[in-house]
Parts: sequence; C-alpha cells; structure tokens
Amino acid sequence: MHPITIVGGGLAGLALGIGLRRAGVPARILEAGDYPRHRVCGEFISGPGQEVLDRLGLIEALKTSGVLPARTGAIFIGGTRSPVRPFPKPALCISRYELDRTLAEVFTGLGGRLQTRTRVPQREDEPGTVWASGRKPMVKEEGWRWFGLKAHARNVKLDADLEMHAVPEGYVGLCGIPGGNVNVCGLFRRDSRNTGWENRRTGMSTLRGPPGSVLHERLAGAEFDEGSFCSVAGLGWKGNPPRDVCSIGDAFAMTPPVTGNGMSIALETAEIALDPLVEFSKDRIAWSNARDSIFASCHSALSARLRWAGWLHRAIMSERLRTRFGPVFLGSDLLWRFMFRATRTCGRVV
Ligand SMILES: Cc1cc2nc3c(=O)[nH]c(=O)nc-3n(C[C@H](O)[C@H](O)[C@H](O)COP(=O)(O)OP(=O)(O)OC[C@H]3O[C@@H](n4cnc5c(N)ncnc54)[C@H](O)[C@@H]3O)c2cc1C
Repeated sequence: MHPITIVGGGLAGLALGIGLRRAGVPARILEAGDYPRHRVCGEFISGPGQEVLDRLGLIEALKTSGVLPARTGAIFIGGTRSPVRPFPKPALCISRYELDRTLAEVFTGLGGRLQTRTRVPQREDEPGTVWASGRKPMVKEEGWRWFGLKAHARNVKLDADLEMHAVPEGYVGLCGIPGGNVNVCGLFRRDSRNTGWENRRTGMSTLRGPPGSVLHERLAGAEFDEGSFCSVAGLGWKGNPPRDVCSIGDAFAMTPPVTGNGMSIALETAEIALDPLVEFSKDRIAWSNARDSIFASCHSALSARLRWAGWLHRAIMSERLRTRFGPVFLGSDLLWRFMFRATRTCGRVV
C-alpha cells in the first residue's frame, strides 16, 4: 500500500490519521509542535463533527478525558441580551489540551507514526501527502489585523452553557469545560497602529472586555489559569481553498469563529478525505484523482456554510448593524433557529 503522510497534527490531521489507521493504511503525521498544548479555540464542538467523532470510534475515549454537553446559549450585544435559548441539538465542550492529546494517543495506539517538532518547510503537492497544517497566515484582512486569545478561568458563573459577548472590535465566547473551568476565548481586530495586546497580562485584560460591559461583570471574580493563556495572530477568512495540494481542515478553508464550527469542519473534511486516500493507498486510483475528488467534495460540503458564516461574522463586527438590528436579532426565535440551520451549527449529544 502507498503510505500517507499528513502534515499537521491538529484536529483534522489526527482525525484523518486515526481513520486511515483503522482502514489499515500506513500513515504518519509530521507535527511542528508537541502534545499536550493549549490552543486558541472556543472549545465548543457543534455541527456534524460530533457524528464524525462517533464514526471514528472516539466518543468513549473523549468521555474518559472529559466532555460537557452544551444545551443552551445566550448572546449579549451592548446593553441588550437574548433570552437563554436551547440549541437545536446540543454541542460538546472539551479542552483542546485534552482533545488533541487523546487523539494523538489513539493514533499512535493504532500504529500511526507521529513525528513531533517537525516542521515541513514547503507546501508542495506530493503523491500521498495531505496538508492539515491549519490556517494560512494573513497579515491583514479588509485592512484589519485579527488575533485570537484564550484562557481558562475558574469562579465564573454563566447564565447559559455558551455565552457570546460582542465587545468593541471583537467578540468573546464563554463556555463551561470539564474540571469546573470556563473557556474564555475571543476574536479581536485592530488597525495597524494598534497591536491590541503586548503580553499575557494585557491579553487577559482584553479578554475581560471593557469596564461596564456585561462581560467585564461576568469575569469580575474570575481567576485565570495563566498557563492556559495562548494567542494567535494573522487570522483571515478570505481566499480560495488551494487546488494545487491536497488539504483538509483550516488548511482547506477557515471559517470565522463566530459559529463555533471550525472543529466540525476539520473533522468532516478529514472524513471526506478518507475513502479517496484509502483507494489511492490501495493503488486503485491515481493521486490526482484522489486529490481532485477530495477538493470537489470538501468544496460542495462547505461553500454555502462558509458564506453564511462570513455574513454572520461581518454582521456581528459591524457597529452599525449591531446597533440597528442587534435587538431585533436577539429577540427573534426564528432568526436564532435560522442561524443554526444556515451555518449547520448543530449536532447531537453523546
Ligand atoms: C479565536 C478562535 C476561536 C475558535 N473557536 C472555535 C470553537 O469554539 N469551535 C470550533 O469548532 N472551532 C473554533 N475555532 C476554530 C478551530 O480552532 C479550528 O478550525 C481547528 O482547530 C482547525 O483544525 P486544523 O486541524 O485544521 O488546524 P489546527 O488545529 O490549527 O492544526 C494545524 C496543525 O498543523 C501544525 N503545522 C502547521 N504548519 C506545519 C508545518 N509546516 N509542518 C508541520 N506541522 C505544521 C500546527 O502546529 C498545528 O498543530 C476557533 C478559532 C479561533 C481563531
């Protein structure tokens, strides 16, 4: 069998590696970093990704490492808030520190080769190589520099399992994760004169939101776990998925975090890639056929969702739309349900 090399051992790469090993395909993952590690992520898995975890036989392993179902959500924009509403289907909250470590252990347990601290320098198309290397860094998008911050905190009481707070030039999500912690994760934008945060201390203060906001009050007594603080810059959502290499997850396309759907997309694209890669490995189809079929299937599965998520993200970032339509949006059950349907941000509980 032809072996498969996966560049990047994040969620997409590990899920694909596990699927390949279960199908008996020789697979190795080259990962620039190491495990366990904290990642900037809202740690809220929604959408069909949960079913992929189930089909990959990973739910039991994740239950052992700890997951919490999220059944309700609430959105806060300025002084207005939505009622606490049920999700169409519950989501899962799980620490990426635990999730990535667990998946890495399952992959190696199935005989996969995991090479950490190995950065592959050049993105090139090689038969049998899949790029799961995450987002392509963007210096600016629409004139803004985007960055993400995350930290776990204790002593935070939430009204809903997931709270989304719009703050000036960004939004912050709060969700309970196992162990009594709350994940505090935000996406922010700044113009080129303003970096927004310089160090861990100013980063955590950015996450608390401006004084006087509901978010700031919510986090007034929060005790942040400094070791969990992490940041990422150079985020962007524009640009076409690459056709010249075989890619999955964020390396294929990144969705704005507002829908909490990026992890689901990573898992779904890994599953889409599985059959063509097994066929290639068994020498039943040529590499170009496998690569092109993965591209076409990912494109048709994701393009409408990515468009909706882009619109939702622009709406929540626009001060004008927030002020004008925020109260209408927050008050409408119909729009709430529509938002989940359009972005496929619903899944099922384990
Ligand atoms: C602020 C923010 C909040 C978010 N919140 C949520 C949320 O609540 N729910 C949700 O579902 N999604 C969320 N996401 C998105 C989600 O985190 C990503 O979509 C998901 O992690 C993508 O998985 P991936 O495997 O494609 O990429 P990654 O998880 O980024 O993994 C890529 C891996 O490749 C490695 N790598 C990169 N380059 C190389 C190289 N050249 N050689 C070797 N290795 C390499 C990296 O070290 C990394 O481990 C959020 C994102 C942001 C920025």
